[in-house]
Amino acid sequence: MPDAQAAFAELCSLSRQAAVLGSVSALLGWDQETYMPAGGSGARADQMAALAALVHERRTSTRMGDLIAACEGDAKLLGEADGPVAACVREFRRDYDLATKLPTDLVAELARVGSQTQEVWKAARSASDFPMYAPWLEKMVALTRRKAECYGVPKGGELYDALLEEYEPGMTSAQVGAIFTPLRTRLAAFLAEVKGKGKPPSARCIEAAKIDPKLQHEFGLFVLNAMTFDLNAGRLDTTTHPFCSGLGPGDTRLTTRYRDERFTDALYGTMHEAGHGLYEQGLPKSRGATGPLGDAFDPFGTPMSESISLGIHESQSRMWENLVGRSREFWVWALPHARKIMGLSGCTEDELYRAVNTATPSFIRVEADEATYNLHIMVRFEIERALVKGDLSIADVPGAWNTAYKDFLGVDVPDDRRGCLQDVHWSFGAIGYFPTYTLGNLYAAQFWETIRRDLPNLSGQIASGELAPLRQWLLENIHRHGKRYRAADLCERITGRPLSADAFVNYIERKIRPIYGL
Ligand code: ZN
Repeated sequence: MPDAQAAFAELCSLSRQAAVLGSVSALLGWDQETYMPAGGSGARADQMAALAALVHERRTSTRMGDLIAACEGDAKLLGEADGPVAACVREFRRDYDLATKLPTDLVAELARVGSQTQEVWKAARSASDFPMYAPWLEKMVALTRRKAECYGVPKGGELYDALLEEYEPGMTSAQVGAIFTPLRTRLAAFLAEVKGKGKPPSARCIEAAKIDPKLQHEFGLFVLNAMTFDLNAGRLDTTTHPFCSGLGPGDTRLTTRYRDERFTDALYGTMHEAGHGLYEQGLPKSRGATGPLGDAFDPFGTPMSESISLGIHESQSRMWENLVGRSREFWVWALPHARKIMGLSGCTEDELYRAVNTATPSFIRVEADEATYNLHIMVRFEIERALVKGDLSIADVPGAWNTAYKDFLGVDVPDDRRGCLQDVHWSFGAIGYFPTYTLGNLYAAQFWETIRRDLPNLSGQIASGELAPLRQWLLENIHRHGKRYRAADLCERITGRPLSADAFVNYIERKIRPIYGL
């Protein structure tokens, strides 16, 4: 066995090889969602499965295990307990332990069936045909449960925790429940007040405007530039289900979707994905990036080039979409440009600000407003937790979904297309993923309180389209650290307290009350 310094260097290099293969798979995934013809789906499923198996073999090699052990035993190499090298070794160990628990055939099967299920889901959703989808969902839930069983139930926890750990390391279902319950209570009380006594703002100025998607795209690129998203190291394309993929150094892909009506949907979709994209572009991925490991290491593939968790990732997207994009200051700056680029007429900044800040329960998560969005997530959390526990059968999913929507949001779901078939996540086995959306909203609101203290002129900066100082703050306090801190530690470091629903609910109430005349 080489000495610890050499072991660490070899570990980084092996991990980089796996990351390069992983980025090929991400590129194929991006292509599947954007330009791949439907006829390519069978071959693509085989390609994805082959790559997943290759990546998995590399991540679980015995050499990798030996190298990690050699690093762990060397205090001089590790340095301070929360220093970058110690954090890398900690994360290498975590990934290795998780990956070695999964047999390669299960990993390949999850990738293959997941890719096929996504294609079935597209057809089932457009036909609103749950029975067409049900046997595939059944397979994916069974495979995902098998994966969770391989990971093992943490002490005192439940099977679902093992899945949550993949997306939000360190978080348990019990902790999620303890944050979600008061969130739901406070939101429900506030929304009842809004519904009973509030006067909804008019959305007429957005609905009346019909804007050519080409012009919307141009405006989207304009906003991306102001956000300091680097288009020489990224792209913006169209798809049915918007996402961001940080493929690798210098290549971050964003997607959005356009309709002639409601140009703000595409705009906020773009800003959301660009928030993810700025995080990806801010992670130290290339040699020479001011990364925590210094110039001696190529950081791509090491934990220092990776995001902390999906919850922290989502905090970045929701911050740009909502805390920036749905502020009055944003429209003070953006409206004259929207007029010039898209020919938007007949909207004042006040009308726009009010129209994009409603509190109206609806069926579709991705179109939900900021005030009601988290209730959509809580429905999914309850349903997938019950599916994993075995308390809910696949055939009963539509019924459970519709009952929960009535209960949580007070709406009657008209059909499965606008009900339990609306999201792609379960099709590729992403169970345990949904809670991270709400965690992201809560992190964003809690971080924002600190950011406002640190950047006293933030409102004025947003109102003049000067978004670089905010980007710089995020880079220094979050992005450049890669995976050095766990989400809970980062939250304490930035805000001085653990995550709770308070900052978010206070922010929503402060914003919505005057708009609804309360
Ligand atoms: Zn997102």
